[in-house]
Amino acid sequence: MLKKSIPFLFFTTLVFSLASAQKEDSLQLRKITNEIMLHGKCYAWLDYLSNKIGGRLTGSPQAAAAVEYTHQLMDSIGADTVYLQPCMVPRWRRGDKENAKILTNNSGEVTVPICALGGSVATAQGGITAEVVEVHSFEELKKMGTAGLRGKIVFFNQPFDETAVNTFDAYEKTFMFRYIGASEAARYGAIGTVLRSLTNSIDNYPHTGVMQYNDSLPKIPCCAISTGGAEQLSKLLKNDNKIRFHFEMSCYSMPDVKSYNVIAEIRGSQHPEEIIAVGGHLDSWDLAQGSNDDGAGVVQSIEVLRTYRALGIKPKRTVRIVIFMNEENGGRGAKKYAEEAKRKGEEHIAALETDAGGETPLGFGLDGTKAQKDAVMKWKDLLLPYGLYDFSTTDGGADIEKLKDQGALLIGLQPDSQRYFDTHHTAADTFDKINKRELELGASSLSMMIYLLSEHGLNEGTIIYH
Ligand SMILES: [Zn+2]
Repeated sequence: MLKKSIPFLFFTTLVFSLASAQKEDSLQLRKITNEIMLHGKCYAWLDYLSNKIGGRLTGSPQAAAAVEYTHQLMDSIGADTVYLQPCMVPRWRRGDKENAKILTNNSGEVTVPICALGGSVATAQGGITAEVVEVHSFEELKKMGTAGLRGKIVFFNQPFDETAVNTFDAYEKTFMFRYIGASEAARYGAIGTVLRSLTNSIDNYPHTGVMQYNDSLPKIPCCAISTGGAEQLSKLLKNDNKIRFHFEMSCYSMPDVKSYNVIAEIRGSQHPEEIIAVGGHLDSWDLAQGSNDDGAGVVQSIEVLRTYRALGIKPKRTVRIVIFMNEENGGRGAKKYAEEAKRKGEEHIAALETDAGGETPLGFGLDGTKAQKDAVMKWKDLLLPYGLYDFSTTDGGADIEKLKDQGALLIGLQPDSQRYFDTHHTAADTFDKINKRELELGASSLSMMIYLLSEHGLNEGTIIYH
């Protein structure tokens, strides 16, 4: 009798304590979400960042103002430490000339919307004009070779894959045309490239974004054309493959300058050496306010800090807000942060990134070991009532990826991606596109995940929720 009752007692006590731990977590998650949905400040902060500061191209006065603003903001909310982490950043500028036209042989000129890709060199003064050749793949480019491309302008016209449900998958498939297209075309003697903008929607917004030259090849100017312009150019080429394209750009680079990551931290009460980092990037492209990319991620991350303070949550592990600089055209802030973490021997158990937009959150991408992922998946049922169900991707984020080597589980907030590329890197990435509730739900998702991580860590073997 006794032999049986001890394990039984042990078992019921264990079940009871697990159930009560789950109840406690569930109540805390509800409190966190209520706090943000009722008293959240992230929307107002984003209004300021967008409308009072504006586009924050790396190394610009606006980027410096944004560093100052977020530093003061986190200071006023009250963290245990708030500091700036210096890093040298590149400076590329668009210049004041950016225009293009299609020169047809029969029906005159057609003006089309373009913008320089970030990092491009300028055209010659007055612009460049040449016959234009349409391609859809690097294989096609190679096949045409020098005989088909010398002296020409290459038009990369690969549309987004409409069948990709997650639009980031479509982005990934066409991204390389933007990133290395110019040098690949220069390899065969092309004098410039025109890229179909990376988006599903057909409109008149050209989408900029970073590109990289291969230093062993000539540096030729490269621009993005709106999808509407791309459709038009392609149609005209079908009738007359001898039409010419003209574009002019006056972009340029300047020497590196000092900038900063902005960091705030609440020290863990039980395991301060175990760090959970969360962040987005403060820099943006210059064409608009950078509200969705990534002003949204910045203010959501700061909302985590405010919420912890407002609710008096004392995390067991250290929670660190990291507002990264220069994600868009260099990743220098991320590099510096990872280097410093390594140098100091810091232990990041997890790093969260929010850089996929301020739209309705659907879940988190998880990039780490099976054991790390399993630990997070135990909390699935706690997160489901908040609409967080998708843990299927391994998308962490560009600013945190270097922390994986240091043992951190990378966690990327995954919002609904359907509208993200409508405004991505364009003049349309403005505050009026942001939905307050969707933005706040993103902040609450991050805060909840961080709460569970800071309470339980990733090595707690006994808590199993079913
Ligand atoms: Zn971004």
